[in-house]
Amino acid sequence: MPASRSRWSPYRVPAFAAALLLLLGVGIASVWGASTLRSSNAWIGHTYEVINRIEVAERALRSTEANARAYRLTGHPEFRSQYLIAIHQVEVAHEALGAAIRDNPPQDARAKRMHASAQVHLAELRRLFDLQELQGAEAARQATDSGLTLQQWNEFEAAASEMRREELSLLAERKARSDRYATLLISIVVLGMLLSGALMVTLMASVTRENKRTRRLELEARGAAHEMALSMAQVDQLSKQRHELARYSGLLQSCQTLEEIVQLSIATIRRLLPGASGRFYLIRASQNFHDSVASFGEGLISSTDSLLPADCWALRRGQAHVVSGGEDLQLTCAHLDAGTPPHGVTALCLPLTAQGTSIGLLHVSAATHAMDHGSALDELIGQLAEQLGLAIANLQLRETLRTQSLRDPLTGLFNRRYLEESFVRELQRCDRRGLPLSVLMLDVDHFKRFNDTYGHAAGDALLGQIGRQIQAGVRAEDIACRYGGEEFTVVLPELDAPGALVRAEQIRRAVELATVQHLGQQLGPVTMSIGIATFPVDGLTPELLLQLADATLYRAKAEGRNRVLHASYED
Ligand code: GH3
Ligand code: MG
Ligand code: MG
Repeated sequence: MPASRSRWSPYRVPAFAAALLLLLGVGIASVWGASTLRSSNAWIGHTYEVINRIEVAERALRSTEANARAYRLTGHPEFRSQYLIAIHQVEVAHEALGAAIRDNPPQDARAKRMHASAQVHLAELRRLFDLQELQGAEAARQATDSGLTLQQWNEFEAAASEMRREELSLLAERKARSDRYATLLISIVVLGMLLSGALMVTLMASVTRENKRTRRLELEARGAAHEMALSMAQVDQLSKQRHELARYSGLLQSCQTLEEIVQLSIATIRRLLPGASGRFYLIRASQNFHDSVASFGEGLISSTDSLLPADCWALRRGQAHVVSGGEDLQLTCAHLDAGTPPHGVTALCLPLTAQGTSIGLLHVSAATHAMDHGSALDELIGQLAEQLGLAIANLQLRETLRTQSLRDPLTGLFNRRYLEESFVRELQRCDRRGLPLSVLMLDVDHFKRFNDTYGHAAGDALLGQIGRQIQAGVRAEDIACRYGGEEFTVVLPELDAPGALVRAEQIRRAVELATVQHLGQQLGPVTMSIGIATFPVDGLTPELLLQLADATLYRAKAEGRNRVLHASYED
């Protein structure tokens, strides 16, 4: 997401350039002002120098005058030598003054006037001095022309005063100009600094604001990207979970046994909810108790092996029930051993139903953060339970249908169709492994008479009991069938003739000794005759073996009934 720029952004560079130019201007003005002030100060210094030199010239002339007069009055040699020095100093002072004001013609003219007056004055002094040297002090004193000296002196003083006035006026003018420059310079510098400072502060504020804005936008963009990544991850996870559930549905169709269904469901739940544990319960025939058929996981919360519908809120209400550890005021199911789940663990109970009929319960416990109630995962587990209920119900229905199609309803034994299918398979298996197989044909003795005596219903009850006795007398891998009417067949894989004789004899004995009750009536004892044939000695095909066993059965009938005979073996 591009950060939109502030409306001041386009002016920032020109403003920065203006601030720089201002600072440059202030710098140039400062340099110019400083050099102007320096030259102005130099001119002021020069003016003071000129004034000073005027005074030096005056002082030198006054000193010459004073020493000359003192020498004339006293004749003291000290004044003489001072006079001679002073004369020289007058010349020196005028030379210095002339050099200082050479660039100023009016002042130069005045200086020359001063010098001329001084020269005239000095000439008069020199004339008196020479007179004194030649004719003595008295002659010099008498020759003094004080009028001339005073006139020259006044002219000298007038020129000096004019010069001084001129210099003072120049000084005032230069000072005023210097002040103006200084004021201007200060104004330029202060104004320039203020302006550039204001610009800089504005720029700084704008840049800071922009930075803050950019940082805020950056944070917002980062937050949005993070949220996007999170929701993408959630979508991804959800699609994986949905894919898992779709795969579960597909595989569920192919499950043949309850064990397969349960194992597939456990694997799917653990893929959807890693670290989960739980139990599957199915309703037993009594329609009351729920028995555990499988459990999985480490048991975050343990649940009882069997439970009554009253023990589980989900079964009572016929809908999912969730209890999260660490939350107050919750209805905890009685089948959970630990009572309330520990903090951070959630227990979920889901009734397993098919077409509105309850068939069992699925209990799952997992970390609360993994199984947030109301989340998509919760919904997925709910869908899984729905499909699981239907699959179990389907399996039970298939099993019932299969049993109905393969078993005889009266006796519970396999029917003739199943015998034909399985006899061939078992015979081939024993043939491959070089093992024997025996087949028994059993027939109730004088059953017609029994029917006639006690009625057809009692006959049916007897057949049911005999069926149970035969089933109880054989192994799980043996095939016990009702061949038709009151005739039965038992296939005994891997059993040779002596073994088959023993087994047949046990059945015969059991039937002979059994008492039969029907509608409170004690029925008469019955017996059975049994014929046996054994593979491979008596025959190699099911048909031959059955024929031979049947023939042997009839031999047993003929020999007096209630006995067991083998087709080819006698002990
Ligand atoms: P045997 O000792 O020679 O076998 O004499 P039997 O009376 O048993 O003779 P048979 O095998 O000919 O008689 C079979 C009788 O079994 C005929 C029929 O009435 C009866 N029966 C056949 N099927 C059923 C059945 O499903 N229920 C009842 N109650 N009777 C049946
Ligand atoms: Mg018969
Ligand atoms: Mg019979």
